[in-house]
Amino acid sequence: MKLFFYNTLTRKKEEFQPIEEEEVKIYSCGPTVYKDATIGNMRTNIFQDVLRRVLAYNGYQIKHVMNITDVGHLVSDGDEGEDKMLKSAREEHKTPLEIANHYTQLFFEDLTSLNIQTPEVVCKATEHIKEMLAYVEELVEKGYAYETSTAIYFDISKLEQYPVLSNLNLEEQKAGARIEVDPEKRNPYDFAVWIKAPENHLMKWDSPWGPSYPGWHIECSAMGRKYLGEQFDIHTGGIDLVPTHHENEIAQSKGVCGKIPANYWMHGEYLLINGGKMSKSLGNVYRIQDLIEKGYHPLVYKLFSYSCHYKNKLNFTWEGIQAAAKSLERLKNGYQAHLEGKDEIADTMVNEYEERFHQAINDDLNMPLAMGVVWEVVRNEKKSPMLAKLLLKFDSVLGLEIEKETKQDKEEIPQEILDLVEERKQARKNKDWAKSDELRDVIQQKGYDIKDTKEGTEIKKK
Ligand code: AMP
Ligand code: ZN
Repeated sequence: MKLFFYNTLTRKKEEFQPIEEEEVKIYSCGPTVYKDATIGNMRTNIFQDVLRRVLAYNGYQIKHVMNITDVGHLVSDGDEGEDKMLKSAREEHKTPLEIANHYTQLFFEDLTSLNIQTPEVVCKATEHIKEMLAYVEELVEKGYAYETSTAIYFDISKLEQYPVLSNLNLEEQKAGARIEVDPEKRNPYDFAVWIKAPENHLMKWDSPWGPSYPGWHIECSAMGRKYLGEQFDIHTGGIDLVPTHHENEIAQSKGVCGKIPANYWMHGEYLLINGGKMSKSLGNVYRIQDLIEKGYHPLVYKLFSYSCHYKNKLNFTWEGIQAAAKSLERLKNGYQAHLEGKDEIADTMVNEYEERFHQAINDDLNMPLAMGVVWEVVRNEKKSPMLAKLLLKFDSVLGLEIEKETKQDKEEIPQEILDLVEERKQARKNKDWAKSDELRDVIQQKGYDIKDTKEGTEIKKK
């Protein structure tokens, strides 16, 4: 069956044609490991997981590379401000390595809890300095990069076309802050590929330009080339990466080998919270851990994300999550009912369901449409193990572990108890241990056991 993806590069939905017949090569921009990942970040990771699973459903082998940015991502996506890793290390009184290790571990715990498959290659920026430096040196040798007193900049005027991926209109954009930061730049949109380190900078490496560190964009270009070659099939990331990070990756690759590194560029849209942005000041920055603490299994969030196409904005609400929790339960019960059923089902009916599901996922990962077919199968009044088997096949794409028992059933826990758990969470946040213990006693008196685990707080009826 034909497979179609929307390609940001051509702004069209295109039939997917891999470079090699059997193996699809994908590069995904991974996390900058300086803080907790949010459910927004996880939406992008779920989209990438669905992509992998859909390719596998179509019979492809996959080589998927994801980087871990542990140096060089500055506070602004341009070239301004402090390195995010160093800022976090300073604020948390830790070393950059401690920060990187801590948040990398948490990131992978989130992926595991969401049943997101680990890419075949996970590569850290700090372990690929040699490759990045070689890339920068090639750019300089070929005349695409130049030295200033603070950095090595990519000269965008050397390219026939910039930008190619985004609608960025350079003429209309005011050069603004970027020019002010470094008047030695030849063009306002020139970007740093390598940055000279100030005297007391913690993360720096020797280079022909003295102690310095890589720019953010060079990381992905160098690691992508190392593991996937100069040209591969698909490059993914969140929509915010289009105008700067991905545009600049393409520029670097054009400079070094004259090619756009990937044939298909796929971008996931943002998750909104109650119709707006997630922000610290609004106190609505949620992590997977926060969902667990409220009694929701992370896979509830995964199912919730299938209510919307990856290219559309998805609005997160607690009501939506509550509904998704019920849906996940219904899906699991529906699977069990079919498994235990004894009705006869015609092969043609199974094949028709399968065909429609396959068509939906092959149409640019249309998960809302695919879920429509899943629900039809669940609701089929005839109960048959053939339909259970079909649901299990669909679950190779959904990744919802439908055959497993849910660890915790939110339905069973009354709101009053959940409110007390929330209050206790706040007390623990404020390090008010006495209040936290007192609330634990109240919860226990009301007939519930409460346990603090690595995965969060577990609540169980006694
Ligand atoms: P950040 O930690 O904000 O640098 O985000 C890391 C990546 O996660 C971004 O490049 C986005 O692609 C993605 N991301 C961040 N916030 C959201 C969101 N609200 N919805 C979807 N993806 C997001
Ligand atoms: Zn990247």
